[in-house]
Amino acid sequence: MSILTTKFGGTSVGSVEALQQAAAIIKEQTDHWDHVVVVVSAMSGVTNALLSAARSASVGDEEAYTTTIDDIHFRHQETIRALLPKGEARTALETEISAFIKELRTFCHSILVMGEVTARGTDSIASLGERMNARVFSALLAANGTPSVPVDATQLVITDDHFMDAVPNMELTRARIQENLLPLLKEGLTPVVTGFIGATKDGITTTLGRGGSDYTSAILGDCLDADEVWTYTDVNGVMTADPRIVKEARVVPELSYKEVGEMAYFGAKVLHPKTIRPIIERGIPLWVKNTFNPDFPGTRIAKESNTKAGMITAITTIRNLSIVNVEGAGMLGVPGIAARTFTAVAREGASVLMISQSSSEQSICFVIPTDSVPAVLASIEEEVALELMRRDIDRVWAQENVEILTVIGAGMRDTPGVSARVFGALGKNNINVVAIAQGSSEFSISMVVSKEDATRAVQVIHEEVVEKAGA
Ligand code: ASP
Ligand code: MG
Repeated sequence: MSILTTKFGGTSVGSVEALQQAAAIIKEQTDHWDHVVVVVSAMSGVTNALLSAARSASVGDEEAYTTTIDDIHFRHQETIRALLPKGEARTALETEISAFIKELRTFCHSILVMGEVTARGTDSIASLGERMNARVFSALLAANGTPSVPVDATQLVITDDHFMDAVPNMELTRARIQENLLPLLKEGLTPVVTGFIGATKDGITTTLGRGGSDYTSAILGDCLDADEVWTYTDVNGVMTADPRIVKEARVVPELSYKEVGEMAYFGAKVLHPKTIRPIIERGIPLWVKNTFNPDFPGTRIAKESNTKAGMITAITTIRNLSIVNVEGAGMLGVPGIAARTFTAVAREGASVLMISQSSSEQSICFVIPTDSVPAVLASIEEEVALELMRRDIDRVWAQENVEILTVIGAGMRDTPGVSARVFGALGKNNINVVAIAQGSSEFSISMVVSKEDATRAVQVIHEEVVEKAGA
């Protein structure tokens, strides 16, 4: 028995043309596999619109949320009318969508009354985009001759109650999938499952975090023992660099799981980082494909890499960052300063993207998103107030407007000279490196450069290291 799990991201199911394109892909694939399971995101922009409606309601702006809800309703209605002929199926679908919209109005109204929105309430609202779109896409498949049924992942993906970033319980989820999804496959149906959402054991709706539909498809692929998982997006696959920055950027035909891990972590918005875990262990191949260019093979993500030694696979950037420095000669040999510094950072809920400390121990630096700088600086200053007073620590300060560049490649491992080529390219082009970190995994090197230098840095590294790699 062969099973394919596919996932369509927001732009792949975000317009009439996209939905038709996706439906044609599924129709074709149902000829090649015994069973196809589809996971869909909300239409592009809908999750954001839902969250903004909730926000407007929480600040008492009834007019704003009403307009937003009307827009969401209108967009779905228009889409349905363009996709389906007049008739019973279309009327039934329209009625279902109207019921979800009504539910949304009720949710927003109660937020308005209460004057606040909880994480739990946020998830109930955010889940509506996927719920509506699964119904739209399933009806379209059925109309095109692919017998289908929409399935709410609240029936399948059982999570903890960490709302907005819930963690699935794989054992319970596996059982639910056997119980609720397999029978549908046996009936010859192509289920369209809502991405992104789940439910607690008690049936309360949760979400897996923004971009969570990839995670859903990986969970389903794992629990169904799928032969392959295909993630459809609006680009040809994982690129060697951002094509808006590097015009020679090309699609990477094959990546190892570990490389994707580094890329996802470092902000290449291709795959949800947690996606990787459930399928890595089972060695299920994952493809990133383009809905709008379905004949292009895309990027294959495999367990092991065939990357040539010395090769760099890709370069990514993360923007809008600042580097925080804690400096002072009196820090030398004093244990606990790093621990206390990072505790102070954690108190503000800021995520640290990179850390570096010289062995002289006279400074610690780390990179955080710029918008958390004021809170983080205040928190550290409070934590080390005594050391500052004694001048053991001279100053705590931030340099804004920096970016992290990460070069990724399994071929870097055990191969001397790769970092020399990277830094050589930067040096030759007079680009200053503010800080450097290499994980002991040796799959990536990250460096901090100023925002002004970042674009050129990516270009020269791509030109001199990625393009010429292995040559
Ligand atoms: N619709 C959700 C979001 O925008 C999940 C997803 O698209 O993967 O975050
Ligand atoms: Mg999305």
